[in-house]
Amino acid sequence: MSENTNLVTSTQAIIAEALEKLGFDEGMYDLIKEPLRVLRVRIPVRMDDGSVKVFTGFRAQHNDAVGPTKGGVRFHPNVTEEEVVALSMWMTLKAGIVDLPYGGGKGGIICDPREMSIEEVERLSRGYVRAISQFVGPAKDIPAPDVFTNSQIMAWMMDEYSMLDAFNSPGFITGKPIVLGGSQGRDRATAMGVVLCLGYALEKRGKTFEDVRIVIQGFGNAGSFLSKILYDYGAKIVGISDANGALHDPDGLDIDYLLDRRDSFGMVTNLFDDIITNEELLELDCDVLIPAAIENQITEDNANNIKADIICEAANGPTTKGATAILHEAGKLLVPDVLASAGGVTVSYFEWVQNNQGYYWDEEEVNEKLEIKLKKAFNEIYDLHDKRHIDMRLAAYIVGLKRTAEAARYRGWA
Ligand code: GLU
Repeated sequence: MSENTNLVTSTQAIIAEALEKLGFDEGMYDLIKEPLRVLRVRIPVRMDDGSVKVFTGFRAQHNDAVGPTKGGVRFHPNVTEEEVVALSMWMTLKAGIVDLPYGGGKGGIICDPREMSIEEVERLSRGYVRAISQFVGPAKDIPAPDVFTNSQIMAWMMDEYSMLDAFNSPGFITGKPIVLGGSQGRDRATAMGVVLCLGYALEKRGKTFEDVRIVIQGFGNAGSFLSKILYDYGAKIVGISDANGALHDPDGLDIDYLLDRRDSFGMVTNLFDDIITNEELLELDCDVLIPAAIENQITEDNANNIKADIICEAANGPTTKGATAILHEAGKLLVPDVLASAGGVTVSYFEWVQNNQGYYWDEEEVNEKLEIKLKKAFNEIYDLHDKRHIDMRLAAYIVGLKRTAEAARYRGWA
């Protein structure tokens, strides 16, 4: 039988296991297995050639027992309702793991910003906010950047919401430019979180950044910042990739050179003749593998061929449930997405707090606070995995769901 790569049902299976281990009954699973709300909208946009194109968008609000829902908006041709729903569940887990007063939310629009003009992207972004405006807000559901969305798009969305609301609402959205109330350190926060978690994982293995050869899949927002930070820490980056293919050099790639040539969508391999495939990249001889691209990359088909000892997930959902079990059995240390990639939403929370209090922190303060949260989360999850002999993903789900389930029980929802 081929394995289950459905993002929602495979997430539900781990949620069921985690809730059982926490001692909650079927009723709690019934509440948490799906989002409380999923909104599907149609967004008419005037294109540059004068025609009108109607786009489809989504916003899923998984659970707001703890606080407002929170999570990014993805612009991508492969966006589906199922993907947005799974991503909203993962956001609940991330918020729980780093102890933020939020539940999970996520949005997406089926579109290809690589084929649109800047003006078309602006009109689409504003149209999306108008379409979801009744359902979102600084105390309801707070969007943020995700795949192919950035601080400029957050600025347009914040402006549109502020116009509708008739007063300035910086706390409506995070990941904004600094001058509009963005936080210091937010642009590199996801990458910083991955690097911190990788540092803690290396410590468990008695290693440092200088000892290891690293492969990074993906050269987008997370992948590019990641490769730069790790390269500057003295790690050897022996492979990187984008959607087109991958580059490999056992002696280490010149990351500064590649970053200089990367376009705004993270493409760089198209400039080289000597490339390998993304599948080959995952199986390269290395110590650390960081999937920082898309879902379902490490599956039961290739998990046995992974050479890395540590797999640190910067992307959302890169490893299937079956592959997680194979890697765990093989004694590898897998730092799951809901922990490793929680740095983005953590600094988004700091941004929202700063917006709410109208008082701004410097980057050092932001990074210090990020480190405190991630270190505590990593240790809690690692200890649970170690003590109970369970994989790190299940341990992360147990830690991540505990608070939402308890809050829901107090409220009388389950
Ligand atoms: N899109 C990011 C994530 O998947 C960040 C979400 C946020 O900042 O709210 O974690």
